[in-house]
Amino acid sequence: MLRAGVDLGGTKVQVAIVDKLNRVLGTDRRPTPTTGTPDGVTDTIASSVKAAVADAGVDLENLVGVGVGGPGQIDYSAGTLSNAGNLPGWMLTYPLSAELSERLGGVPVELGNDVQVAVNAEVRLGAGREYNSLLGVFCGTGVGGGLVIDDEIWVGRGAAGEIGHMKIMAKGGAKCGCGRRGCMEAYAGRAAMEIQARKWAKKGRKTDLFKIMKKKNKPRLASGVWDTALKRKDKMATKLINRAIWALGAGVGSAVNLTDVQAVIIGGGLGIRLGQPFVNDIRDAMLPNLIKPQDPPVVLLAELGDMGGALGAALLVEKYLKPPVAKAGAKKSTTAPARKTTNLTATKTSPAVAKQPAPAPRTSTAKTTTAKKAPAKKTAAKKAPPRKASAKKAPAAKKAPARKAPAKKAASSSPAALLADAARKLTTRQ
Ligand SMILES: [Zn+2]
Repeated sequence: MLRAGVDLGGTKVQVAIVDKLNRVLGTDRRPTPTTGTPDGVTDTIASSVKAAVADAGVDLENLVGVGVGGPGQIDYSAGTLSNAGNLPGWMLTYPLSAELSERLGGVPVELGNDVQVAVNAEVRLGAGREYNSLLGVFCGTGVGGGLVIDDEIWVGRGAAGEIGHMKIMAKGGAKCGCGRRGCMEAYAGRAAMEIQARKWAKKGRKTDLFKIMKKKNKPRLASGVWDTALKRKDKMATKLINRAIWALGAGVGSAVNLTDVQAVIIGGGLGIRLGQPFVNDIRDAMLPNLIKPQDPPVVLLAELGDMGGALGAALLVEKYLKPPVAKAGAKKSTTAPARKTTNLTATKTSPAVAKQPAPAPRTSTAKTTTAKKAPAKKTAAKKAPPRKASAKKAPAAKKAPARKAPAKKAASSSPAALLADAARKLTTRQ
């Protein structure tokens, strides 16, 4: 009863094999092909899944499903990924579900948007598990986003969450990869920042960014290059990162004014690398733009690191876990209301999930979630910054003492702790 989650990015394919409790049992990571066709990329994904399965010490037959978070437009019902500009030859519609499933002996394959699945992982297993409305902002090559309202990822008509393309300059702004000007991503996306750095360097402005890049043997200004340059107080790097923080403060602040979410989670390659100081700076830049600055949302660093994408992808196929045998007193799970959900979050209230001794309070049944919702909303919103004091734990202990034990027990084997194990494993192998 294992699942595989695949984080399919422009630079790497990251696979995690997880068990029912989302514990990571095996991993594999390899570069995404930079040339060739979608067929070639699919071969790479299949090899990576097989390697991760071997790493977990199991067989392909143990997989009940494979979830893939991909960078492009997903047609959930058709199982296709389209317009993935960061993948070679992928500016078309490709039946990734069917092709990958065929290479993996027919195991079901579900697709999701890469950022949305990573946000979902943070909501279910990471920094967002105490909140039921939040905004995920993932800074990497571009700036992706995911919006969760009342525990559901809001996908709109399929393209919601594109926070990177919030306009922060009405006229004459920097050019964005989308072809427009003045988008947040044109200032805060790593690709756009690199273009600007190269322009300035060409004009003779000094920077060590490209020296550091060469020394680190990177083809691009990767997140680690920015981090090193900042630590060395490189003027150009500092200026460009400050510009990114200003842009994020404007864009995220506007999004918060519109949605009034409880929490903002900063993730993505750059966000995770620059860590808490970057998060604090974004928060400070956001505050003056809030219509209610005295009651801001909490701004948190993503907890699952760069494994969030793979873990979130594995959540896409949670529905393939065999529903457990009904027990007395388990009626909650069978009376779960038919909520209007997307493919991405449908599993949140599924009986299979409900019955697990969950690693996080969020995996409880729909009914208990609803019961917890009201206090959580009020208290968490008011007492936002000290999030340990959030309402979820206290009322949960009072209302459902029976649930407390497994929840606490699972904390020692929490996804974050298990991730640390997986990371150690990875490091020793590299
Ligand atoms: Zn744009």
